[in-house]
Amino acid sequence: MKIQSVRGMRDILPEDQKYWQFAQNLFDETSSSLGFSRLIIPSVEELSLFERGIGEATDIVEKEMFVIAAKSDDNATLALRPELTAGCVRAYIENGMKSKPQPVRLSLFGSAFRRERPQKNRYREFYQLDFEAIGDEKALWDVYIIYSSLKYLERLGLKNIRTTVNSIGCRECRPSYREKLIKYFKDNVDKLCEDCKRRLRTNPLRILDCKEPACQGLSKDAPKMLDNLCPACDEHFDYVKSSLNNLNVDFEINPQLVRGLDYYNRTVFEFNQKADTGRQSSLGGGGRYDYLFEMIGESPTPAVGVALGLDRIVNALKENSIEIPKVETKQILIVGTPDTVKQCLGASNKIFETTALTPLYFPQETAIGKQLELANKLQVDYAVIIGPDELKSGKYQLKDLKTGEQKQIKPDKLVELLS
Ligand SMILES: [Zn+2]
Ligand SMILES: [Zn+2]
Repeated sequence: MKIQSVRGMRDILPEDQKYWQFAQNLFDETSSSLGFSRLIIPSVEELSLFERGIGEATDIVEKEMFVIAAKSDDNATLALRPELTAGCVRAYIENGMKSKPQPVRLSLFGSAFRRERPQKNRYREFYQLDFEAIGDEKALWDVYIIYSSLKYLERLGLKNIRTTVNSIGCRECRPSYREKLIKYFKDNVDKLCEDCKRRLRTNPLRILDCKEPACQGLSKDAPKMLDNLCPACDEHFDYVKSSLNNLNVDFEINPQLVRGLDYYNRTVFEFNQKADTGRQSSLGGGGRYDYLFEMIGESPTPAVGVALGLDRIVNALKENSIEIPKVETKQILIVGTPDTVKQCLGASNKIFETTALTPLYFPQETAIGKQLELANKLQVDYAVIIGPDELKSGKYQLKDLKTGEQKQIKPDKLVELLS
């Protein structure tokens, strides 16, 4: 039987790498100039980290986890990470980052795995870029994470970014709001989709971001968290709004924005991009997660973060025809015959070690003319010909394939001329 890629998984091919490298490099530059330090965490964690951290009643943990059959040495069930934040928090605790100046600003890059229904531009292995600020409860850091995300998206050249924010309250104010919400939806339970009927028992806030038209219609008139915030949450959200205004960030308030994970509280936000084609796509989002530490059995530690989807960013770069700055590396093809392999390898090594050019050498038995055709196919910049005639005359032929110009040079002058 033929082996194929797993459903929902894909290859990212060489021709796409310019987008990926551009977006990744810019993320590295932006995150370090904004004071974030890179953290790399494993793709595999104990399942209980995600069950407790993300919440058992979320779609992710309920039906989208890749649980691994093999267990850890101490018999714990393992899973592929469905996002990076829970692992980041685990790493913060395990490595004693609490003793560092707070908040600890971390940036992460890596793939995450969810067994979602495969659809266009949605993959079961996808790539995330995270900014996290752990250890400070001040609203300033919510603003800083939003600001950092926008600076990065701006540097990518993406225009028409729509920033939506909301507050989903805290332990003080959310329970009574939750009751109001349950009552409202119970009165209209017949109109809810099957998933939302279940969410009404497990996670009623999630009904607010259900994509079913009937549920959406109902949600529009539902009680709003923003009208039910406690004074502390109100003050926190006011600070976020006024600071964003001070920074000239264009944002909208969306009372239905709740985000799909249990660990969020207070500020939540999302970034969408409107392409020239008119298509809107979500580039990512995040929020404050002050309770995540307690959810996984640790002492309370406030934190806020964002996850941007690299797959979506790359799509947006393409859809908006963003010009990717070209990294100039010129290539030179070394053309020889079976009699001149030694000289060709010598020249290749010398070019590699002393010039910025990329030498390409494929020892072949075909005629020199045929090999020059290959040079055109590969779109290389130069070719150096080292055949029996050249050995006899003691001079190589150097050909500029862009101009067609060809000249004879002494072997020891080759590198000098190329650099
Ligand atoms: Zn509150
Ligand atoms: Zn629904």
